[in-house]
Amino acid sequence: MSAPAPTAPATTSPVWHPFRQHLTEPVTRAIARTEGARLIDAEGRSIFDAISSWWVITHGHRPPAIMAAIRDATLRLDQVIFAEFTHQPAEDLARGLIDLAPPGLAHVFYSDSGSTSVEVALKMALGWFHNRGAPRSRIVVMDHGYHGDTIGTMSAGARGVFNAAYSPLLFDVDTIPFPEPGREQATLDALEGFCRTGRAAALLIEPLVLGAGGMKMYPPHLLAEFRRITERHGTLMIADEVMTGWGRTGTLFACDQAGITPDIMCVSKGITGGTLPLAATLCTGPVFEAHLSTDRARTFFHSSSYTANPIACAAALANLRIWQEEPVVARIAALARRQEAWVTRFRQNPRFRNVRRTGTIAALDLDVAEAGYLSEVGPRLRAFFRDRDLLIRPLGNVIYLMPPYCSTAEDIDRAWEAIAEAAEVILPRIPQARTAGAHARAAG
Ligand SMILES: *Cc1c(COP(=O)(O)O)cnc(C)c1O
Repeated sequence: MSAPAPTAPATTSPVWHPFRQHLTEPVTRAIARTEGARLIDAEGRSIFDAISSWWVITHGHRPPAIMAAIRDATLRLDQVIFAEFTHQPAEDLARGLIDLAPPGLAHVFYSDSGSTSVEVALKMALGWFHNRGAPRSRIVVMDHGYHGDTIGTMSAGARGVFNAAYSPLLFDVDTIPFPEPGREQATLDALEGFCRTGRAAALLIEPLVLGAGGMKMYPPHLLAEFRRITERHGTLMIADEVMTGWGRTGTLFACDQAGITPDIMCVSKGITGGTLPLAATLCTGPVFEAHLSTDRARTFFHSSSYTANPIACAAALANLRIWQEEPVVARIAALARRQEAWVTRFRQNPRFRNVRRTGTIAALDLDVAEAGYLSEVGPRLRAFFRDRDLLIRPLGNVIYLMPPYCSTAEDIDRAWEAIAEAAEVILPRIPQARTAGAHARAAG
């Protein structure tokens, strides 16, 4: 079955969609309802949301307890200014987050998206050095990182076609290589080198899994090593848990697996179970205290209009209760086992490379040759999955599944079977990157 030819764009809608080439991509599909792991479109077709609607949905769509908490919150509160005023949902949520977060994180700053939570973290880090009278402004990041689409977070993320037009506005960062297996020492040495200059304010890093950069995974002991190096040189560590948080990597936070506490931690996406936009930047006592002063110039000058939206905070509180009262960890473990079974099978498939998994996230690279083909293979794969009512959006030639925790074994099996079929249908027409060994070829 071949991908449908690109349809002319619908000209009736004024909506400009994200990451969409409106001239060539197929018409957008209208979703009328969501339920569990499914999106139900206007024609009644049920789509398996295998990427959790861009990584936000954790338990499933419209979790009853969270939707009830939202309804309940609307009976009392809407947006309330968060300077000079506070409200119970924000207070309770801050305490709940601190209870669950790595020990030592003591304060919570609210915002409304992952990008903003990272911007806040960068400002906290620079404020820490500025207010102590020893300014530092270099940010150390990892190659292939992604931290958002604002100017600041694009500066800290991998450069490419996505941000080429904006590069004149992006600030310089110090980039350490991704720790490819066997080349970990080069990453550690690079980090040590940047920290040793005494100019590195912070290491900003996605713990264990680099999401948008291609679901690249590295082990917890390296994360622990990054923490030791930054600590040794007085460089702050900012853990961007926007994607990895809320169980994706098998534990509540990815940092938990390394047993570390970053100085600053960003959470968003699954904080409300994916129901409403909210973000939080958590920090240690010292980071907060560096902004305490009789000198008002040392205030942390940041806010967004919808900071600590009470309805979103109520949704997040209900999410915390789900984590405390329901067997979420067991659900995640079962999903991870199902993913692992498929990952094991796909390791034998010569059409794929780097078959990998961390917690509930599984990814593999379709073995295609030149980068020129990447632009072609992504949309073709997407169309193939779309025809089968599967929401799977490859990142170039990287196919991944990041399903909601309520996904059934049948959902997962169907998605993997479609991935195997897609490779059979699409790859023969695309040159492979390298010749697979005779054994692997026979196994496929
Ligand atoms: C998605 C993401 C962000 C940006 O979050 P938005 O809510 O889209 O602004 C930041 N960091 C990581 C690691 C992400 O995956």
